[in-house]
Amino acid sequence: MKLLITNDDGVFAPGIITLASFLAERGEECTVVAPDRERSSVGHAITLTRPLRLWAIPSGLYSSTCSVYACDGTPSDSVMLGLEEIIPEPDLVLSGINKGPNLGDDLTYSGTVSAAMEALILGRPSLAFSLNCRDADEEQHYETAAAVAGSLLDFLRGSPLPEGVLLNVNVPNVPLPLLKGIKVTRKGVRLYEGKVTRLKDPAGRSYFWVSGRPEDRLEEGSDVWAVAGGFVSVTPVHMDMTHFPSLQTLTANGAEKINFK
Ligand code: MN
Repeated sequence: MKLLITNDDGVFAPGIITLASFLAERGEECTVVAPDRERSSVGHAITLTRPLRLWAIPSGLYSSTCSVYACDGTPSDSVMLGLEEIIPEPDLVLSGINKGPNLGDDLTYSGTVSAAMEALILGRPSLAFSLNCRDADEEQHYETAAAVAGSLLDFLRGSPLPEGVLLNVNVPNVPLPLLKGIKVTRKGVRLYEGKVTRLKDPAGRSYFWVSGRPEDRLEEGSDVWAVAGGFVSVTPVHMDMTHFPSLQTLTANGAEKINFK
């Protein structure tokens, strides 16, 4: 398969190096186009107000058969430029492996998932991969997530994704033999407690730090539930954010008859 691979942790992050190198060594044709630095949590941002640069870099830490390019824009910029300039007809666009999960409401903040969404908007099938690790974890098992990606690619060869659907894949941070299996899930609910912390700088002025502890609702069948139980979570995602039941309710309640005068 011809693969375009991107991420939001930057082109030198271990997750994307492990993913591209693992797949290249399995015989896939891997082209990496990724941000030149970490752009986590930029969501679906694209760069419209300054020029963008795109340059080839030596494969270095990557498997030698990977073609690697850095872009000084966002993950979505990287997908756009990658498809326009480097590899116009990939079989699949992959994003990740992200350092940290993209579960529940992380989806709209995530540069990793947004890059996959950008590919989808441009008419290419895509998958997003994230490892459920934290900074404090001693080991980060990107090799587990890469092996999952390889197996999913094999599955998709026989059972391609429907048009307009991407897969958001989250992998527990454990050695491969300890994975419990795969669950096909729906997007769950993940809220953050204490999202904004106010602190003081040395001059006594306030500054703010946005972070927060995730609070998951572990409803059966959801992505947060699957990963908490040691399973790989595979969520099919599409871009239509319309809430269909409200089409009828809003109309029935007279929203189209609101008088402006
Ligand atoms: Mn990230």
